[in-house]
Amino acid sequence: MAPSRRKFVQGCLAAAGAAALDRLGLTRGSAAQAGTLAAEGISGEERGPSYLEMERSGELERREQALWAMFEACRLCPRQCGVDRTAGEKGICGSAETFKIASYGPHYGEEAPLVGRRGSGTIFFSHCNLLCVFCQNWEINHLGEGMRAGHADLARMMLELQNRGCHNINLVTPTHLVPHLVSALRLAIADGLRLPMLYNTSGYDSLEVIRLLDGIIDIYLPDFKYQDATVAARFSQGAPNYPGHAAAAIKEMHRQVGELRQIDGVAQSGLLIRHLVLPENVAGTDGFVRWVASELGPDTHVNIMGQYTPQYQAHKHPSLSRPPTREEFAQAMQWAREAGLRHFH
Ligand code: SF4
Repeated sequence: MAPSRRKFVQGCLAAAGAAALDRLGLTRGSAAQAGTLAAEGISGEERGPSYLEMERSGELERREQALWAMFEACRLCPRQCGVDRTAGEKGICGSAETFKIASYGPHYGEEAPLVGRRGSGTIFFSHCNLLCVFCQNWEINHLGEGMRAGHADLARMMLELQNRGCHNINLVTPTHLVPHLVSALRLAIADGLRLPMLYNTSGYDSLEVIRLLDGIIDIYLPDFKYQDATVAARFSQGAPNYPGHAAAAIKEMHRQVGELRQIDGVAQSGLLIRHLVLPENVAGTDGFVRWVASELGPDTHVNIMGQYTPQYQAHKHPSLSRPPTREEFAQAMQWAREAGLRHFH
């Protein structure tokens, strides 16, 4: 690692990791010796999110370092750009070494188990690694509009959302910023964060990164946008490998957290997949619901969404230039029933 790059990564780790451990009254050496809460006979409900125990055991710091190691020649997502983001280089997502936040606050527009009574604590990050031509948030995702922020800022936002009564921390478009998110999470843990972490993604995620998030993320909320490589390449900035990577990542998410688990109608953990119905079955909805039923099981929670309208550059593509008809959406729901899915809406 060149000195400047080493300095950047070490600076990020020092700013987040060391401070977090210090505020917990732990050193790196003592963290490994601290013992686990499980060994102390404390139940899962009392423990709270598993990232707390990972912090105490030192495992969260190890994951953080592994994620930062993927940032230098960036391979955080299936694009595998290989750019040195620590040196300010940008890959396809357009995000360099720092990050921007478009907005944050309690959000009531997500699915009911995520919103509960007091809202989902949503943080919208700028830039995106998938870049669909029909993006509804194109100013944020394509143009990168937002305010620059640091790890301490992000940690403060998480804590503010917790203090405002939100049920979870909902990280929207997080894929290109995972090392930053874990560094900020460690700061927030030190100051009392206890909410479930929700990973709200396009589904264009690296299996290696998702494996590193095992135990850190409580609720996964991935899209599964397309089943066909040609469609993915045409409508998502040349990403023909989207279907394969999304399928692998979602299977791993399901392995980690299983079905959506709720208490009093509020999600605590689990997987919920979103699928946007596109006109002319461009999204391959019949194949999607069959895949869910066969690979994950009929009890998987699925939101089949019918609200597509042409946005951004969609008008350049005839098959995306109108909303799906009522008949097309009814057909999508019928396919879900025929596939045997039990928890879709
Ligand atoms: S996160 Fe961005 S820079 Fe890194 S591989 Fe993906 S698109 Fe490229």
